[in-house]
Amino acid sequence: MFLFFFRLITVFLLSSVFLISSTFAQDCHYYRTKYNCPTNKRFKLHLSFDDGVGSVTPQILDILKREHISATFFILSNKVDCQPYRQQCKKGGNQSSCESLKLCQQRRQTLKRIKREGHLIGSHSHQHYHHSKLSPAKLQATIRRSKQILQPFFTTNPAPFRLPYGDGWFNQKEQPQVMKALKQYGFIHIGWEMSGFDWNEKNQHGTKILDNVMKQMCSGRNGTVLLHDGVFENEHEGRLFTAKHLAEWIPVMRCVADFVPLSYFKKELRN
Ligand SMILES: [Zn+2]
Repeated sequence: MFLFFFRLITVFLLSSVFLISSTFAQDCHYYRTKYNCPTNKRFKLHLSFDDGVGSVTPQILDILKREHISATFFILSNKVDCQPYRQQCKKGGNQSSCESLKLCQQRRQTLKRIKREGHLIGSHSHQHYHHSKLSPAKLQATIRRSKQILQPFFTTNPAPFRLPYGDGWFNQKEQPQVMKALKQYGFIHIGWEMSGFDWNEKNQHGTKILDNVMKQMCSGRNGTVLLHDGVFENEHEGRLFTAKHLAEWIPVMRCVADFVPLSYFKKELRN
């Protein structure tokens, strides 16, 4: 009798394992076909997030922790520079400036968490300017300020930097002064090989953002994916759609790719 039950349980367990793995395999087969991915190739992928720290950054960190993924966050340093808010609030300013100070302090806590959880922190400059259009003095000032604020959070030398709009990187031949200034302040520029185009509201529905990444990857690209955790025009806002759906996108990406740290592609960034 005991043996019978033992056999029954074994058969049950084995069949559930088979069912789960075949469902998973079937899903990946579906996605490989959907995105026309080569069947015999696995890609290497690194996730990066711009324009934060945003209100949804903690949610994104929770997902990355669960998935054991090490990402890079390119921080817009004016979002974690709480001094101006502190002064306004102290001046006996209105309630909203004190509320802003509180939110800024929360973002600084999140910045500490990003570092603590082993992600790489890079600069996205102090202001979201088109850097190639800045005067030499203003260009130096924004890069310098960003370095002052983020220095305690850098773990590599050189530290990673990503230019807003990629301006100064795409067009470095015509505007070499931007990359030159980054080098002068000890930064290495990190571009991107793939983009979710998640900043564009037109893409914030269905699986459009995932589709963008998968199509670019399956056409044969390895490298860094550009996503966003903040909104540069609004210091307190986060990229709600990306944070809400990232957990669904990761298993699909995993069908064809392994997640790697940025140092896999940039040896200079081994910490
Ligand atoms: Zn940006």
